[in-house]
Amino acid sequence: MIPPVGDTVIAIDGPAGSGKSTVARALAVRLGLGYLDTGAMYRAVTWAVLRDGLDPHALDAVAALAERTDLSLGERVVVDGTDVTGPIRGPEVSGTVSIVAANPGVRRVLVARQRGWVAEHGGGVVEGRDIGTVVFPNAA
Ligand code: C5P
Repeated sequence: MIPPVGDTVIAIDGPAGSGKSTVARALAVRLGLGYLDTGAMYRAVTWAVLRDGLDPHALDAVAALAERTDLSLGERVVVDGTDVTGPIRGPEVSGTVSIVAANPGVRRVLVARQRGWVAEHGGGVVEGRDIGTVVFPNAA
């Protein structure tokens, strides 16, 4: 679902360590918009892959897991009822997330959820590496 014209979508793209999160959080507060950290979504799915002992390279199994996993992104990151805010920044998830993020099925599921989140919130500040190019190419 592409958000209706009129919703404010601010897309912040950039490589790791470029300061996206700091800018995105401050901008969201300043503008009174919600903030979505899409990297945290890929990390959350990766946490679920490790929880279930799946092979991160198993394309279909990992994409199916992404589809059925309940993700809540806010002050805390909650996966299927477990608060994983700390663990998703740990070495196991950080060392595996790029494999999970390269899975086209996972990307399809998460991009759809990112668009849904923005539609539900009537806009927002969205941070990631493909937000302005793929997820919201029409962001102002
Ligand atoms: O930004 P962060 O380091 O938390 O992102 C974790 C990983 O998730 C990135 O290294 C990248 O592999 C993946 N990612 C992505 N697309 C996004 C956000 C993150 O592929 N929009």
